[in-house]
Amino acid sequence: MIYFDNAATTQTLPSVVDAMLPFLRSNYFNPSAQYSAAQDAKRTLEQFRSYMAKTLGAKPSEVRFTSGGTESDNWALKGIALANRGKGKHVVVSAIEHHAVLNSAVWLERNGFSVSYVQPNQWGVIEPEALRNAMRPDTVLASVMAANNEVGSIQPIKELASVAHSSGALFHTDAVQAYGHILLNVRDLGVDALSVSAHKLHGPKGVGMLYARKGMPIESFVHGGAQERGYRAGTENLAGIAGMVQACRLLFGEDGSSPAALQKNAAHCAELKRKMVNQLNSLIRDCRTNGAENSLPGILSVSFKGVSSEALLLLLDRDGLCASAGSACASGSLEPSHVLQSMGVAPEWARGTIRFSFSELNTEREVSQAAQIIANAVAQVRDA
Ligand code: PLP
Repeated sequence: MIYFDNAATTQTLPSVVDAMLPFLRSNYFNPSAQYSAAQDAKRTLEQFRSYMAKTLGAKPSEVRFTSGGTESDNWALKGIALANRGKGKHVVVSAIEHHAVLNSAVWLERNGFSVSYVQPNQWGVIEPEALRNAMRPDTVLASVMAANNEVGSIQPIKELASVAHSSGALFHTDAVQAYGHILLNVRDLGVDALSVSAHKLHGPKGVGMLYARKGMPIESFVHGGAQERGYRAGTENLAGIAGMVQACRLLFGEDGSSPAALQKNAAHCAELKRKMVNQLNSLIRDCRTNGAENSLPGILSVSFKGVSSEALLLLLDRDGLCASAGSACASGSLEPSHVLQSMGVAPEWARGTIRFSFSELNTEREVSQAAQIIANAVAQVRDA
């Protein structure tokens, strides 16, 4: 099998599983309990928090563990909007967000907020000027993802955050695809909130974090006990968090601020992407890539004109190649993705779009094999 769907999820690395096992087998204590074994677990949890904070240039108290990207996005959108509703009831999101953000915005609309959707340019980039035009005096929050999950375009987050702030609004970024793949520092970027998920960087599924700037007003979203300093109730998923920390250690080093491995992986993926584009262009007519020049090293969106991506994916699967049509959640539907539509990609191209996404575990040999498999599949669909 050739696995080119790393933006959907990644393989949980063996050392990540190893880091989790002690918290399932022997160190299973509830960090909120009083005896010393549980207090050790609590100390470990706080060490994990400090580590994760370092990878983003944040303070430990600004890191809140969650069940993943979807929860972090829901919490940021709903929690920040509700906490600031006294100042205004308008929220701005980009039209190319993941549904975790888009459907949270829809929920806000059903609950008395108005939402504006900012369109990207043809490369899938949200221009600061476009955000500026959407801001209103009653805007309390703007949310634009750090990099898009379908086409990989990296967004000008620092400039966008500054536009939001100059209008008096807070700024959240969904960094689920970007974190662990490009360097992000919350102070440099000037963001107020940032979402992360572990399973996009070889960590376990069902765990992530929300960076929430100290002092930023945000409502709690999961109510119950006093965990996460009372911000997010529920017994902590220590095994999952241990797995996330180990996945990050492999990228950011033991101290959380030595990202040599992250940069090496990024260079490797960028090279695989470059080779894949060259090979597809030489083997297949009428194919082109989507997204910006400045895009995530591991994400490649390719459109094959006049081809159905569903038919293509079936043939690729038959030959052992895993990829996605747009994003994993949009696949299965015959509608072209909302991201490609909003970029203005013509329907005859958008319908034949496949996302290939790489990790450092992929090889150049796989790229050559995959390009041949894809060329055969496209020819078969076009001849049918
Ligand atoms: N945001 C983006 C940009 C994503 O790509 C994803 C997952 O595909 C999510 C949020 C949701 O993250 P999770 O799967 O951890 O809930």
